[in-house]
Amino acid sequence: MREFAFELAVCAHLEADFDGVVSRQLGASLAGTRVMDVVRVEPGPEFEDRTRLTAGTVPDAAIESRVGVGEARYWKDCFDCHPERAREATDRAVETGFFESERRHGREYVRRAVRYPEHWFGELVGIENKPDLGNPGDLERQLRTDVSLGAFDAVVLATASHVTGAHLHRIPDEVGVWRFDQENGIDEVVREPTPLAPDEPGVEPVGREPTRTEIRTASPVEKARLRRRIAERAYGKGWRTYDAPACANAAAGEYAGARDLPFCEWKGRFVHPAAECGVDCPGHAAADPLDLDLDAERDRRTPWVRDPAGYRRRQAGLDRF
Ligand code: SF4
Repeated sequence: MREFAFELAVCAHLEADFDGVVSRQLGASLAGTRVMDVVRVEPGPEFEDRTRLTAGTVPDAAIESRVGVGEARYWKDCFDCHPERAREATDRAVETGFFESERRHGREYVRRAVRYPEHWFGELVGIENKPDLGNPGDLERQLRTDVSLGAFDAVVLATASHVTGAHLHRIPDEVGVWRFDQENGIDEVVREPTPLAPDEPGVEPVGREPTRTEIRTASPVEKARLRRRIAERAYGKGWRTYDAPACANAAAGEYAGARDLPFCEWKGRFVHPAAECGVDCPGHAAADPLDLDLDAERDRRTPWVRDPAGYRRRQAGLDRF
């Protein structure tokens, strides 16, 4: 569970020194299963337009759809994806205020409440956490995938270990390395990352057999779409995605000024509530869930807006007719 506490510390410290969006555990590949531990999204020139739109994630299918800002159209005519996905995206887009909806003759018609601000985000930095380099797991393969796909502008490895030449030898040259201290943040930049090329085609390994690796080429258009999905997901999700433990020994902890982190008095450390808390824990003492207001804390600490004004000209009127 040390990795979870390390990840919270990385997020809290990044957030303290940065005016953009920090999120964790985001899908970062097109056909594979790569999940990036932490993502830092720099604000772009239209960031404020994005904060006004919705606090959540705008569905990718809604952004890609033919729903425009002008005349409302029958929702089914505007999507090329599977009807279920289209329906889901329409509902979600209406709920978030990206689409406005009206009924005509029993059919739902939709229009965009606003043009999507494509330039709301700038650079995306992927940060892979590996507190203990003595226990690297799949690290080398994951970082090679990140570099060859090149969806991020830069990729960094954050570790609490002393970094040796042998470690560096196993990490792709393009990957930056931070020695990270949970209390003090980045202790040493062991190596700066080399900028990747998100605007150029990339290569993604999609299957691995003992004698060969199957690969897939990713076009710049696919990568741009993946980047937007990562940025949107990061904006909607943030990094405070843990539950409040229902235990008398749980307390709200703090890292780098970020409050309401899950600390356990009994274990004397930060805990991963979903994995560690519950009746199976020997220290568990039933109580009401810890009172954490994670959205308020995110709103207080970051440019993310909890209750945006939105752009909707009128309430979605499904019951209008
Ligand atoms: S359930 Fe266990 S780990 Fe979680 S707060 Fe209680 S004592 Fe700590």
